[in-house]
Amino acid sequence: MTALSEHLAALRALVGEDSVTDDPARIAPHMADWRGRYTGSTDIMLMPGDTDALSRAVRYCHDHGLPVVPQGGNTGLVAGGLPGLNGRREILVSLKRMTSVIHVDADDHSLLAEAGCTIAAVQDAAEKAGRMFPLSLASEGSCTVGGTIATNAGGVHVIRYGTMRRLVLGVEAVLADGKIFEDLSPLRKDNRGYDLKQLLIGSEGTLGIITKATLQLSPAEKSRATAFIAVRDPGAALELLSLARDHGGDRVSVFELICETGLEMVLTHIPGTRRPFEHISPWYVLLELGGAEARSGLTGPLEKLLENALEAGLAQDASIAQSNRQRSEFWRLRESLSEAQSKEGASVKHDISVPVGKVPAFLTVATPALEAAFPGIRVTPFGHMGDGNLHFNVMQPKGAEKGDFLALWDGMNRMVHDFVTDHGGSISAEHGIGTIKRGELARLSTPARLETQRAIKKALDPKGILNPGALFN
Ligand SMILES: Cc1cc2nc3c(=O)[nH]c(=O)nc-3n(C[C@H](O)[C@H](O)[C@H](O)COP(=O)(O)OP(=O)(O)OC[C@H]3O[C@@H](n4cnc5c(N)ncnc54)[C@H](O)[C@@H]3O)c2cc1C
Repeated sequence: MTALSEHLAALRALVGEDSVTDDPARIAPHMADWRGRYTGSTDIMLMPGDTDALSRAVRYCHDHGLPVVPQGGNTGLVAGGLPGLNGRREILVSLKRMTSVIHVDADDHSLLAEAGCTIAAVQDAAEKAGRMFPLSLASEGSCTVGGTIATNAGGVHVIRYGTMRRLVLGVEAVLADGKIFEDLSPLRKDNRGYDLKQLLIGSEGTLGIITKATLQLSPAEKSRATAFIAVRDPGAALELLSLARDHGGDRVSVFELICETGLEMVLTHIPGTRRPFEHISPWYVLLELGGAEARSGLTGPLEKLLENALEAGLAQDASIAQSNRQRSEFWRLRESLSEAQSKEGASVKHDISVPVGKVPAFLTVATPALEAAFPGIRVTPFGHMGDGNLHFNVMQPKGAEKGDFLALWDGMNRMVHDFVTDHGGSISAEHGIGTIKRGELARLSTPARLETQRAIKKALDPKGILNPGALFN
């Protein structure tokens, strides 16, 4: 077997001295999982500066049977971008040096960027051209074009603009044997048979390493009207969502559900936050309309909508942001939920989705069942109700031992996932499967789904060198 030092020397000769390292100090920051639950390990990190260099390196790895794990911003929440988690020797490929926005075409509403470019940088480039890149998520300062494509990321604007799948027009990727697949055209219509880029979206680094992408831009939202609304229960929130769509059409760009338990944690742990109004309700909705018109053009429809909602008893109270500052205050309440929960204690996470119309039914069934099975827990769901995607987080009982509570993780996951499946939902709405949900994917997928996914993997990566620990057991 070729010794590690020989692989290092060969890779350095192929891609350049500064694109390869075995320095543990440089590798260490890439081994930490965002939530601190997992630590990866590797002897070699590749940091190619361009697609050709990556292609040469992957061909070498393929020929020598060396598995590679791609990594972007390392903000993934399912431990999918960490090498060595299964004790296997895997090489890390960091895309962090491929960070350019190559081209923005305002008239075509498209943008071409390298895979390591952050989503915040894409948003900035689009804005400078008078356009908008609508993917919006709390990790946008760190997560990358490649990582968000590989996980088909969602975020708060999916209700209007869709997930990354709807925002990707073209992709360039290095395939398992080092071949470069190039389909970066901004074409909106192209029916030439199978579409490999659609397979790469959401493939979590298991079918190819994305190196560039052409992304779809939207007209800028010049105006926004934002409301924080108290609702009695998720059923009322669902009816409010329909009413909002009747009034606002596709200008409804955000519809987020927040529970009082979660809000209370934000108010307790996040300095400078305050209730938008006195009324305390079990549930709230953060609603935003966005459009090209002047602000007054959106405030009217939002006021009318809230008037109707209050009259119909769908809303108990509501506040419309009167300034950008107030809008930011509303948003801070939503965006601080994860941080507040981690300050409160340990929580078991479920990134799940059910059909939008089944969100109330799911919550009504799953919450009491969990509370009965795990006395003292605090179920604190929140999230993108407009897409049926909830972060169904379960907080440890007050005063419980953190480790004892986290030992319940797998059993609790199984119970929640069974309810999700009963409601026709998905055990991964936006974070992916990674290494931590592989067992559940296998347990809950139909044989046809699983066999087809495995057949695709085998066809595109017969030697199994691309992120072999992700998706499949
Ligand atoms: C605070 C916070 C908020 C978040 N909010 C959301 C949210 O609202 N919606 C949402 O969908 N997600 C969210 N996430 C999860 C995460 O940000 C997204 O999954 C993001 O898409 C990951 O991008 P990344 O560049 O960090 O990828 P990484 O974490 O580096 O990798 C994620 C996966 O993609 C693969 N990968 C990375 N780059 C490439 C590439 N170039 N080619 C092929 N495969 C690649 C990796 O192997 C891994 O399997 C959040 C995360 C955090 C920490």
